[in-house]
Amino acid sequence: MKTYRIAVIPGDGIGPEVIAEGVKVLNRAAELDASFRFDFVTFPWGCEYYAKHGKMMDDDGMEKLRSFDAIYLGAVGYPGVPDHISLWGLLLRIRKEFDQYVNIRPIQLLDGAPCPLKDASKADIDMLVIRENSEGEYAGAGDWLFKGKPEEVVLQTGVFSRKGTERIIRYAYETARRLNKSLTSVSKGNALNYSMVFWDQVFEEIGREYPDVKTYSYLVDAAAMFMIKQPQRFEVVVTSNLFGDILTDLGAAIAGGLGLAAGANVNPERTHPSMFEPIHGSAPDIAGRGIANPLAAVWSASQLLDFLGQERWGKAVLQAVEQVMVERAALTPDMGGTASTSEVGDRVVSALAASS
Ligand code: ATP
Ligand code: MG
Repeated sequence: MKTYRIAVIPGDGIGPEVIAEGVKVLNRAAELDASFRFDFVTFPWGCEYYAKHGKMMDDDGMEKLRSFDAIYLGAVGYPGVPDHISLWGLLLRIRKEFDQYVNIRPIQLLDGAPCPLKDASKADIDMLVIRENSEGEYAGAGDWLFKGKPEEVVLQTGVFSRKGTERIIRYAYETARRLNKSLTSVSKGNALNYSMVFWDQVFEEIGREYPDVKTYSYLVDAAAMFMIKQPQRFEVVVTSNLFGDILTDLGAAIAGGLGLAAGANVNPERTHPSMFEPIHGSAPDIAGRGIANPLAAVWSASQLLDFLGQERWGKAVLQAVEQVMVERAALTPDMGGTASTSEVGDRVVSALAASS
């Protein structure tokens, strides 16, 4: 029997509440399949840990994580701890040091999910956004000159290395080919006359190796409009760090909201562990009340199963999520229900058991 070792970092706010449900669902999948099991090791890192120890994780934390098959993370960040400490001390540090340069966000409207677009059907909203996760506009490069003086100038530089740009675009072509879908590049070559001209050039260059993949290229402003007006245009989408950040929040909104949006930070070469997390934050306003929607965390668990090669179970978990939304017997308040976080998790577990 195969054992997958998973590092669990529940984190802050609603993180632990939703991750508990994801773990429950993963354990249930393993119980139903005699060929694998999970060995979960929980790390109590995050802002509470910071309050006690003055650091977001153990000094040898990265070493501790290195040997795991994957990392399952709730949320980090809490009022009182500045973002640059909580994010750079944990989330961004793991993404960077483990070279998780691909951020994958499924934007897929499941049956029963609330959609603000009145005419959109399930078939219309079904895309996979592949966001560059290691450099670009979020490289942290820039300068602040003449601070406080009349001639003050602030520079924020996007960094697009050949290596970084090629690898994300290549990953996207590979994904589109594997799924037999079109690939859309989202950029802004008309206004960002260095970085995005380069991006467009690399997209075209790499595309010559994938003549079988149908491609489209959109300016980011047009892409934002069409995601609302004609989301069926998009299948696999590849874009930069900043544009991906914005478009995937837009995507989360059209596919049912933050309570449903999942994401994966992937190191495709598998030289380091990849990390799976709901895209929402710690939501301090509802933390500790048992009403957080666990479905985003459960969807991330489904991505984790896919990544481990257990695609059959990844699919089954997603179907269970969909069934729970269609039944409407147990949903959290953000989805119009009155159920608790754990009641929703229990319902997913029963749907999973019934379907297998
Ligand atoms: P952080 O600073 O950690 O990002 P945040 O205050 O920005 O936290 P988010 O988690 O990003 O909060 O989400 C914004 C709001 O959306 C929350 O305050 C909460 O009301 C709602 N929300 C987010 N996730 C969920 C969820 N899983 N279930 C229910 N509501 C949620
Ligand atoms: Mg937030």
